[in-house]
Amino acid sequence: MSERVDILGAGLSGLSSAIILAKSGKEVHVHEVRQDSGARFDGDFQGIENWTSEIDFFDEMREWGLDPNSFKSNPFGVVDLVHPDDVITNPVTNGVAFRVVERGTDSHCIDQGFKKMALEAGVKIHYGVKVNPSQCDIIAAGPKESSAVAFGEIFETGHPNHVTFQLNDKLAPGAYSYMIIIDGVGLICTCLWRKQRKSGRFLDETIAWYDKHYDLDRKPIKRVGGKGDFSLPEKYVFDGRYYVGEAGGLQDFMWGFGMRYAITSGVLAAKSMLGEVSYEKEVRTKLLPLVKVSATNRFIMNRMGDRGFKAVAKHWMRDQKKTGDGLGFMRLIYKPGIFRRMLWPLVRFGMLTKGVTSDGRSYLRMPFRKALKRDDWKPSAEAKLVAAQWKNIQRTGGKTSFNSSDQ
Ligand SMILES: Cc1cc2nc3c(=O)[nH]c(=O)nc-3n(C[C@H](O)[C@H](O)[C@H](O)COP(=O)(O)OP(=O)(O)OC[C@H]3O[C@@H](n4cnc5c(N)ncnc54)[C@H](O)[C@@H]3O)c2cc1C
Repeated sequence: MSERVDILGAGLSGLSSAIILAKSGKEVHVHEVRQDSGARFDGDFQGIENWTSEIDFFDEMREWGLDPNSFKSNPFGVVDLVHPDDVITNPVTNGVAFRVVERGTDSHCIDQGFKKMALEAGVKIHYGVKVNPSQCDIIAAGPKESSAVAFGEIFETGHPNHVTFQLNDKLAPGAYSYMIIIDGVGLICTCLWRKQRKSGRFLDETIAWYDKHYDLDRKPIKRVGGKGDFSLPEKYVFDGRYYVGEAGGLQDFMWGFGMRYAITSGVLAAKSMLGEVSYEKEVRTKLLPLVKVSATNRFIMNRMGDRGFKAVAKHWMRDQKKTGDGLGFMRLIYKPGIFRRMLWPLVRFGMLTKGVTSDGRSYLRMPFRKALKRDDWKPSAEAKLVAAQWKNIQRTGGKTSFNSSDQ
């Protein structure tokens, strides 16, 4: 391998690779189309999960030489779980179930933490540039296509720090909504795993639901969102280039918790370039089984409506009662096992479509599913007020960093 390494994309996966390689003495150049790391996001909160491995992710990061103290994070061991019939229960664990981090360009955001580590390691990051992918060794350019989208509103609130996870097929078709509050700033987000016209109404209705059930005194700041790309490429190293993070389809098909896959794959690609491991082999043994389990879970969830979601929520709480640990259920549903392995051929042919990228890579992708009849409903009076409130905020400068289909 030459001493110079070029990486496309200064997000989590690309910077993870860059840090490891630069620390090993390589001359690393990262090419980023946006003006800064984290600019793809805009101050939204995301959770780094701690359930796809028994090892705490921050311990894993330290082992790789990545410093989790370089960005702000808030650990959580408990959430409000909202069942489809609005019953609220509390999965709880003694350890850390997940950590909330902020995405964006402020200095405490995870993206800026990784940028800081990269610069300290001697990485040269070129922002605002367009570079041909064929000139790069590692492709870390994030999602290309949409398999699902999420929209959220960020607001000020006096509510204490809190996380709610809601399974509700009306508010979040095929998926879930969530609310995260950290230090006086809240995010209410809805995820759409079925493609909708007028998608903004799902966020308005979701916000109206949270306004009704929590004492928020919500003061909207801005609206954010983004897409997720769920695919399985035939190869993770193609034409001598390493595909990491979402550019390599490494995402959680079930619920979209892709950050851990992004960082892990970035580290593995760097180690492979340093001759310590084989990236293709590591991805296939460590990450692909998890991705396939999540895809199988997604296949099952696609067949569920609220009755299925209710059964999941009940099962989760029953498992917690039996084992005394709410995290156990999450570990269980992400664990590769014989039952879901047997379902794989059905998932493969029933949910994924074949394609070829412009650079000749074959892949299987989860297409954005069509809307169902039940997704066509009239907004409530409360949701109309939420929409009107947002229009007002927009008039006075409130910005939207992602276009929902009705804007
Ligand atoms: C709304 C939303 C909520 C989410 N919530 C969670 C969550 O709670 N937990 C979780 O774990 N995951 C979550 N995810 C997923 C997570 O954000 C991604 O899986 C993760 O950021 C992927 O990292 P990456 O390095 O592959 O891509 P990114 O971090 O997006 O980085 C890719 C970088 O490449 C740049 N780029 C793109 N094209 C080019 C190009 N041609 N040339 C140069 N640079 C380019 C982009 O600007 C970007 O900076 C969420 C995603 C969205 C959209």
